[in-house]
Amino acid sequence: MTVKKSLPRAFSDVFRDDETINVYSYIRFSSKAQKLGFSEVRQLEQLNRFFEQYPTARQVERYEDLGVSAFKGKNLKSGQLAKFVERIKSKEILPNALLLVESFDRISRVGGYDALELIISIIQADCGIYTLFDNRLYSKRKKDSSVDISLIQNILERANDESRNKSDRISDAKARNLLKGENGGIITKRCPFWVDYADGKFVLNEHAEAVKRATELCFDIGFQSIAKELNQEGYPRKYSAKTISNILHQHAIYGSYIAMEWDAGKPIQIKKEIKGYYPALISESEFHRISAKLKERQDPSLAGRKAQEFRNILRGLVFCKCGSTFRYHSQKSLYVDLVCLASTVGKCSYATPGKGVRHRYALVESIFLAYQSLIPFHQIIVKTDDIKALEKEHEEISGLIILKEKALSSNFAILEKSSESAQKYILSRINEVSHELDKLKIDEHKLSLKISSMHLASKSDFNVVEIYRLLLTERGRIKINNFLHSQKIKLIINPIKKKFFELDIYHNEEKLDTIDVTPDGYTARYKPHLK
Ligand SMILES: [Zn+2]
Repeated sequence: MTVKKSLPRAFSDVFRDDETINVYSYIRFSSKAQKLGFSEVRQLEQLNRFFEQYPTARQVERYEDLGVSAFKGKNLKSGQLAKFVERIKSKEILPNALLLVESFDRISRVGGYDALELIISIIQADCGIYTLFDNRLYSKRKKDSSVDISLIQNILERANDESRNKSDRISDAKARNLLKGENGGIITKRCPFWVDYADGKFVLNEHAEAVKRATELCFDIGFQSIAKELNQEGYPRKYSAKTISNILHQHAIYGSYIAMEWDAGKPIQIKKEIKGYYPALISESEFHRISAKLKERQDPSLAGRKAQEFRNILRGLVFCKCGSTFRYHSQKSLYVDLVCLASTVGKCSYATPGKGVRHRYALVESIFLAYQSLIPFHQIIVKTDDIKALEKEHEEISGLIILKEKALSSNFAILEKSSESAQKYILSRINEVSHELDKLKIDEHKLSLKISSMHLASKSDFNVVEIYRLLLTERGRIKINNFLHSQKIKLIINPIKKKFFELDIYHNEEKLDTIDVTPDGYTARYKPHLK
């Protein structure tokens, strides 16, 4: 960016074409640094545009006020800007200097003479101020600065003035409300149904327990079943699948208040998130883990599961030799069959023409269960407290990993839109997050190794009866099905003729056995215990 451009008029009054402008920029981050909110991104973008527009400008330093609220005027006294003024006074600032700010009310919303004094003292020290918001340059080098001074005063006054026009007042009141929320104040008394507003603060109410329960259940069962389960457990109110879905998507379950950016009556993006606003039921990482789980459910291969009638523990695991899947099909006779899907449309190469390939589900299930000892079933049943604690830790880390990955991708998204000066900052953020992510992944790996070795050690505690206990309930059967998926169980049926078939059982890509099934019974080829 060394293109020689002559400075626009306002600038040529103050800076010479052949001189470098030494820029000190001041960005106020209202929340923690890793959260680039809407306003931060906007400030960075404005900063980029400035440097594109003025090639003679060179960034010397950037000041950032992190988490210091301009609303309370704190950054006047204790923030980076105050330090900047100190440095001006002790003449540590380069000549031909320019301070870049978004607007004066970024410097202070306090208004009045304190802020005015601060701004004037910067200008007096021959440091120009440029406000990105309205593209105005303030400098004592300007021929006539009386207009500027009254303008500054006006802006500062306006920032604290109650008698603005209505739309201004509403949007500013909203912004101020948000700032208030960040500082522990109340933005709105409206709250989710499991929270009450009492004596000036938010407290969990009688519904909190059920909501917490839903966050636990959602890993095993769908919305419909959670609602059913909660209603059976007799909480103070009734739940529907829709309510459950609603709850599990709300940031409020981990205590966050979300302010949305609205457009034409529709929320378009998150404007601001205020953490710790409501009492939290779960951790933030747990929330992200739940979100990931819900997303996974939307996967077409898992969709359509009717949890309330869930019987098929082999769902998605049984395949016909022709490659097609088997559908679980209830007969009027109350028997349940597995039907080769391709055979129902005459596309199964193993079917007798005009006939479907179907076998009794119960038979296939009982043959499969005879192999339970070869599958590490204890992993879903036996859990010592130690393993549970480690698994909890593992869940937390998994949640954090999701969180960091999100942060990383949003930083990348911002990177594309930014130019040089901001890129440097964002790249350093990306490095930082990548580094944290690597570390988390190493921890996660270590933990999962530890957990699996502990599982192995506890194998002897395993009780076969436990599997059958699980088989009795809908939730248990769903749990088994999920578990079998995680174990990469695969059953392949090779149809021979009516009531005759071969069944191959695979575990983790490895063949366990082939079983020959006839109307009189079945024989395993490799495992003698089935003879
Ligand atoms: Zn088939």
